[in-house]
Amino acid sequence: MARLIFLGAPGAGKGTQAQLLSKVGHIPHISTGDILRHAVEQKTPLGVKAQAYMDRGDLVPDQLVVDLIQERLSQNDAQSGWILDGFPRNVSQAKFLDELLAEIEQDVHHVVNLEVPDQVLLSRLLERGRKDDTESVIQNRLQVYRNQTAPLIDFYSQRDKLVTINGNQSMESVTKELENLL
Ligand code: AMP
Repeated sequence: MARLIFLGAPGAGKGTQAQLLSKVGHIPHISTGDILRHAVEQKTPLGVKAQAYMDRGDLVPDQLVVDLIQERLSQNDAQSGWILDGFPRNVSQAKFLDELLAEIEQDVHHVVNLEVPDQVLLSRLLERGRKDDTESVIQNRLQVYRNQTAPLIDFYSQRDKLVTINGNQSMESVTKELENLL
């Protein structure tokens, strides 16, 4: 049983690693970005509200993701652990998560900070070619990460949850280090 949060800049490899680890650990990979992209594709009310923010590389309003996470963590498959990828994304989401977990009597075991130098992030994102991976949107997403998400590194290190992993090595080496956390 493991409950993990993956932090790290866009392009750090969070999604790929979270997906691999979720298979190894038999726990769901919960990616708010994936859920939102799916909602946008399906043109659900959530997707319609989120789309413009996502196209710009801005965070969608907290209330949208907070509701989504609360719903997702209440589902059956999430009772035996999870990997959160892309949530929380700012301090107020992290505080919300603290309160929610206290309410449902669960606790985060580790918060993984995947560290990758800026230059590498930029080239990885440009190669990936997702719809929100144009250069100006990428620059905005990196800026949003620095301003809003990076403060979570301190937030979780003060709570003794932080594990920093060098994300600038082969995919296999990163996976190996992560498997030790399960
Ligand atoms: P990601 O796939 O995690 O890079 O997320 C893609 C986009 O979805 C982000 O650029 C945001 O617009 C939005 N998003 C994903 N997770 C969150 C979150 N926790 N809070 C706000 N916006 C989010």
